[in-house]
Amino acid sequence: MMSIDLENTSLRQLSQALVTRQVSSRELTQAYLDRVQRLDATLNAFITLDPERTLRQADDADARIARAQAGPLTGIPIAHKDIFCATGWLTTCGSKMLSNFVAPYDAHVIERFNAAGTCTLGKTNMDEFAMGSSNETSFYGPVKNPWNPARVPGGSSGGSAAAVAARLAPAATATDTGGSIRQPAALCGVSGIKPTYGRVSRYGMIAYASSLDQGGVMAPCAEDLALLLNTMVGFDARDSTSIERPAEDFTAQLEQPLQGLRIGLPKPFFAGEGVSAEVQQALESALHVYRSLGAQCVTVDLPHSGLSVPVYYVLAPAEASSNLSRYDGVRYGWRAAQAQDLIDLYERSRAEGFGPEVKRRILTGSYVLSQGYYDAYYLQAQRVRRLIVEDFKAAFAHCDVILGPTAPTVAFGFNEKTSDPVQMYLSDIFTISVNLAGLPGMSIPAGFGAENLPVGLQLIGNYFDEARLLHVAHRYQQVTDWHRQVPPLARL
Ligand code: GLN
Repeated sequence: MMSIDLENTSLRQLSQALVTRQVSSRELTQAYLDRVQRLDATLNAFITLDPERTLRQADDADARIARAQAGPLTGIPIAHKDIFCATGWLTTCGSKMLSNFVAPYDAHVIERFNAAGTCTLGKTNMDEFAMGSSNETSFYGPVKNPWNPARVPGGSSGGSAAAVAARLAPAATATDTGGSIRQPAALCGVSGIKPTYGRVSRYGMIAYASSLDQGGVMAPCAEDLALLLNTMVGFDARDSTSIERPAEDFTAQLEQPLQGLRIGLPKPFFAGEGVSAEVQQALESALHVYRSLGAQCVTVDLPHSGLSVPVYYVLAPAEASSNLSRYDGVRYGWRAAQAQDLIDLYERSRAEGFGPEVKRRILTGSYVLSQGYYDAYYLQAQRVRRLIVEDFKAAFAHCDVILGPTAPTVAFGFNEKTSDPVQMYLSDIFTISVNLAGLPGMSIPAGFGAENLPVGLQLIGNYFDEARLLHVAHRYQQVTDWHRQVPPLARL
């Protein structure tokens, strides 16, 4: 019988238990699969499970541990967002368009985790092609928030966030184009990090908006994230935007004191407008904690941050309309039956394979890129993007990290925002500028609002400052226990 508390054991402790043979990878993995079995009918966090394949990997890990060749993550089961291609696994990206696509190769992220000896627990549910903030655009149905199944988990990485929150997996990969790691992490009460653009290879990560997409990861705490980033981050020649830098150990500075840390508080993030009282209150308490740890707060200005949502909704759809042109029913993916000719095949396959939000983005994107509108929308948005980058540069001259809310409210209800896309788009008002600038950002649990729903705190770092972000988050987590809370539904 396994004697490990799956609700509150860190990855480091799990690894220790595996290496000392207190538990085998097969037992550990089976225990998580059992939790998935019990809870996922309610949560819908997974699109694909393949326990036999998963347990074969666990056996391989056990053999590796027996040979004393284990690394820090060997034998640990990890859930992967269904945007990452994994050989032999159905890889849908939450879309009917890819509902028959079995990946013939591994994404760089998957290669890295496989090489580290982790087991793929399953592929997690997500908004279709990562477009959404509530998981309601998934072809596979919405994911439920483990803290209250009548609420959304956030999106687009809602399956990964719900899986980690309910401890169906010790960690899960995710991606963030405008907030899709941080916002669901906040709404589900877990920790998540989006690294600097270019840190994690996009090879084999299904493209949405290539200049913004970045892979990252979610887990209960920052220390876990540091270990996971050690595996995920690295140069990959197959992604032309991948960055070559010396290897870094993201766990190295976790225990340093925070004395003298300068925390930047952006005026527009604290202007009150649109931020609910419960979120504000949690932020104030967090600032109190940071001050008591020796940090000082400075006000910074991000004068163009109010333009980040409109800029994003020009640029991201423009890139999406181009990236998604590859789904034509010819090479792979959904193919309409009984097409009259080639054009008819394209039209029907795309009409049948894409959901309404994806179609909306393709239409908007094609529009802003079309002759006559390109200068007024696309080019203009690129110019404002540059201003947003400059704002952050100026802010980081006065502070080491920026702190603010991750999302304006706690988890909202199903169908609350689906009829008004702009309301939905505003869920990412505090996260999107970080992608536009290519900076690293994270969200950590910072309290609970009404009805016991989690509140997330966002930390934004300068380029390549992931180690500092994780350090700042870890010190907070050493003196708070928000990240240890497990939703009642998941207490088996
Ligand atoms: N919610 C935003 C969108 O719909 C961001 C999604 C993401 O980060 N993938 O585009």
